[in-house]
Amino acid sequence: MMNPMDELRPPTRLMLTPGPSSISPRVYRALASPLVGHVDPWFTEFMGGVQDLMRRVFQTQNHTTYPISASGSGGIETAVVNVIEPGDEAIVCVNGIFSARMADVAECVGAKVHRVSAPFGRTVDPEDVRRAGKGRKIKFVGLAHGETSTGVVTRIEAFRTVADELGALLIVDSVATLAGVPLDVDRERIDICFSGSQKAISAPPGMSPITVNASTEKLIRARKTKVQSWYFDLTTVMNYWGNSRMYHHTPPISLIYAIHEAMRIVLEEGLEASWARHRQNQLALIAGLEAMGIGLFVQNPADRLPTVTAVTVPNGIDSVKVRARLLNDFNIEISGGLGDYKATMWRVGLMGYSSQRANVLLFLDVLERILLDEGMKLPVGAGIAAAAGSFAHAEPVAAGQGK
Ligand SMILES: *Cc1c(COP(=O)(O)O)cnc(C)c1O
Repeated sequence: MMNPMDELRPPTRLMLTPGPSSISPRVYRALASPLVGHVDPWFTEFMGGVQDLMRRVFQTQNHTTYPISASGSGGIETAVVNVIEPGDEAIVCVNGIFSARMADVAECVGAKVHRVSAPFGRTVDPEDVRRAGKGRKIKFVGLAHGETSTGVVTRIEAFRTVADELGALLIVDSVATLAGVPLDVDRERIDICFSGSQKAISAPPGMSPITVNASTEKLIRARKTKVQSWYFDLTTVMNYWGNSRMYHHTPPISLIYAIHEAMRIVLEEGLEASWARHRQNQLALIAGLEAMGIGLFVQNPADRLPTVTAVTVPNGIDSVKVRARLLNDFNIEISGGLGDYKATMWRVGLMGYSSQRANVLLFLDVLERILLDEGMKLPVGAGIAAAAGSFAHAEPVAAGQGK
């Protein structure tokens, strides 16, 4: 039993979840740096550097780019609450729990939401969005670039085209993709894009990077009604993160140190190199799983989210028991499925600092051990061999192309 007066001693876990991911020792060191005040001139200058790195990670020139003092869901709130005025109509592409959350948030602030759905494990058809928006005045089209609940990645381009046709903004949830999956905010003309600190960026949870382009900011400043959130109103938050550095709320200063260091690590490696690493490690994981006779939830390889792999639990295997053994016997955390998929799906995250070759091989080895114990018949050693083979054939990743 834990005594509340005991010294803090969390276990050292390897987090192969859809977030949070494990973080680098460099990020732990940044977290432990001396606290300063939020309007200390040293800090307000440092904030500019943080925003500069964040623009590079998002690949944008947008002035309005900063970390929201909230988890990824705070990014959803900020994006939606700032553009929606009561009675506005919006289209949200729903193919999992997180894209559904964007629709829920929009309803909370009085939008009439049209949900355009796809079966879980698939991407929404842009043609369905076009149909849903026909003849309507749509404020925004929203989607999750990476739908973490089902392990699906959506190609953004076609949705930009439809949003243009509808005269709508495009809002993209990149919580599970930023720094791990190709994403270029300016080239893809995303109006509002937000992410989370604890996924492929590999900082602790609690911050949500966001970027908003100039035309959208103008639209927000011209609202007829007040933004229905004081905390997330980006026009006033930008008094602090903009040029004047005027107090709005006290941000989590230590977390800002941490995300700064985490973004330095991302940019030292280079975005392209990071994307390639995430891709390669997932392909090796998939090769290993398939060699063990384990199936994947997302059937179309092109729809598989490189950062989160949705795995079908083999017949006759107790999914919760396997996860408990991974955690208790081997200090490895993976996630189960959400909702209807609780018992039948595992979700394995290979994000940021967690996305390493050694982790892929370790996970496959340990999983094999546990499944053999549970009575599953599988070819011993085949998983590791297939993953190692996948690595042997992988394209070399050029490091240090930080932009
Ligand atoms: C994790 C996640 C969120 C929610 O982030 P929190 O930090 O848990 O609030 C939202 N969208 C996607 C795609 C996610 O993966």
